[in-house]
Amino acid sequence: MVRFTVLASGSKGNSTVLSGGRTRILVDAGLSCREFFRRMKLAGEDPATLDAIVVTHEHQDHVNGLAVTARKLGIPVYFTEATHRAWMRWLTPRRQMTYAQWLEECRRQAAERQAEADPREGEPEDAESESDAQAAGADQAAESNGGQGERKNDPAWLPAVEYFEAGRPFCIGDIDLSPFTIPHDAADPVGFVFASEGIRMALATDLGYITPNVKAQLKGVDLLLLESNHDLDMLRDGPYPWSVKQRVLSRVGHLSNEAAADFLVNDYDGQAAYVILAHLSESNNLPELARVSAERALAGRASLLANRLLLACQHEPLSAVCF
Ligand SMILES: [Zn+2]
Ligand SMILES: [Zn+2]
Repeated sequence: MVRFTVLASGSKGNSTVLSGGRTRILVDAGLSCREFFRRMKLAGEDPATLDAIVVTHEHQDHVNGLAVTARKLGIPVYFTEATHRAWMRWLTPRRQMTYAQWLEECRRQAAERQAEADPREGEPEDAESESDAQAAGADQAAESNGGQGERKNDPAWLPAVEYFEAGRPFCIGDIDLSPFTIPHDAADPVGFVFASEGIRMALATDLGYITPNVKAQLKGVDLLLLESNHDLDMLRDGPYPWSVKQRVLSRVGHLSNEAAADFLVNDYDGQAAYVILAHLSESNNLPELARVSAERALAGRASLLANRLLLACQHEPLSAVCF
């Protein structure tokens, strides 16, 4: 059975669990580890059965609990290389370094590489607290004076890292993943089409507009999770400072209800059994506005009666969609 469960969606945290065959993956880890475990329980999912975490981009609402969750579960994290680097930079604030400190740092890294070359058994379990720990982790790293426990104190340390590239499909166990580039102000952001047991599911949030390539990727899917971030009037009249409004509206910002509807009317092929509106803004949107806008867009097309429209929320998991 294929199962798709949105645990959280919005600017305070994004996370989705996907099961296909014997494989389960988590797409983005935007919730704190503790909250992630709570939501998994609510959704009837067992975190211990996850095989990997896949990251779309390094914005905080997609990676907030990443390191702690990956360590706790002892599973690999899949990134593009640029996203991994950007995430590490975000976790490790730049510190001014003297030349002597820099030399010391180089020596430390060489020693670490040496240590990694020695196969060791029984890697100590990460002892980090369950609390949302990135800030705390960064503090620990700053205080760290090298030597013992360095790895544990490195806020960017992960059990394993795998790289993928947009445009190059790959698989994790029984799930095939096709990452595609999306226009968004991050280092190397991607959306995905997932396929398992003949079911195709697309996830496209955090995009300023729908490029021709994204349109092509979203064809022939059984489930379409699409951003419907803001209502243009609400954003215009809303509380955000001008610069933030400009960012959201830009070609590398977020998709409006209007833009999502435009896609549904003009480019969507109507094939999906489920359309899930996602990443709704809490300040600049209302679920009803997003819903009505998408419903109108879908209703204009007689062939689309089978499309079930769902709204992903920020504060509770959406019921699992099963195929
Ligand atoms: Zn986001
Ligand atoms: Zn983003």
